Amino acid sequence: MTESRTQQKAQGAPPLPEALRVGVADSHTHLDMQEPSVEEALAAAASVGVETLVQVGCDLERSRWAAETAAAHSAVHAAVALHPNEAPRAAARGELDASLTEIEKLAALPQVLAVGETGLDYFRTGEDGIGSQQYSFRSHIAIAKRQGRALVIHDREAHADVLRILDEEGAPDRTVFHCFSGDAEMAQLCAAKGWFMSFAGNVTFKNAQPLRDALAVAPPELVLVETDAPFLTPAPYRGRPNAPYLVPVTLRAMAETKGMSEDDLAEHVAANTARAFGY
Ligand SMILES: [Zn+2]
Ligand SMILES: [Zn+2]
Repeated sequence: MTESRTQQKAQGAPPLPEALRVGVADSHTHLDMQEPSVEEALAAAASVGVETLVQVGCDLERSRWAAETAAAHSAVHAAVALHPNEAPRAAARGELDASLTEIEKLAALPQVLAVGETGLDYFRTGEDGIGSQQYSFRSHIAIAKRQGRALVIHDREAHADVLRILDEEGAPDRTVFHCFSGDAEMAQLCAAKGWFMSFAGNVTFKNAQPLRDALAVAPPELVLVETDAPFLTPAPYRGRPNAPYLVPVTLRAMAETKGMSEDDLAEHVAANTARAFGY
């Protein structure tokens, strides 16, 4: 085997982890961006105890796809929204309000349990996009409340404004910070509000001690796990494609951080995810 072939192999899909004894859900994934078919992804996930997942749409087309996929598979629930980075693009096309109207129609469907991912992303979107991003975030909060759905928040380098806008608008009864990226202080703040914190594979990264400190203080009743696949593959598989079947890798690392047994944390996470999304 040539060196480049060896390298290629090393970058392939990580192996199946040992199955969880207590099943949990992947609270946030993007099957539409992953290579395997939906059926293959669901079968691999179920084989290691990940029997439920939330498929998250990031624009109107992919939110429709999320709703269709959830209708076709009992293991899949849908979340629909315009991603914070999509909002300025929709606004530039003059389609933001029309798209929000369509998102609300999708949010009313029975298999759609959440409005998201919405929020603020100051990492990818520059100054000129902030206005439409904040307008879109406020609109999604209103949709979630009108439709009685959970709100799934994407917050990248925008903690203060996300918290301020949530306070100004009034958060829905069930609010989830996906790929939680705050520190221990922010985790305590979210805990005081009863907001769910969903941890992704980056909690396993060497440089992520502040995130592990946040997880350590997050009440077990508010902790969720997610892959955000195909992104944020947990250690030791960084650089290789992520998928819902890798949830056990992240959950085990989380149990270690919290000083809880794997089964105890899994029981909490399973119940929390069902409560957060209302299934
Ligand atoms: Zn996100
Ligand atoms: Zn996502």
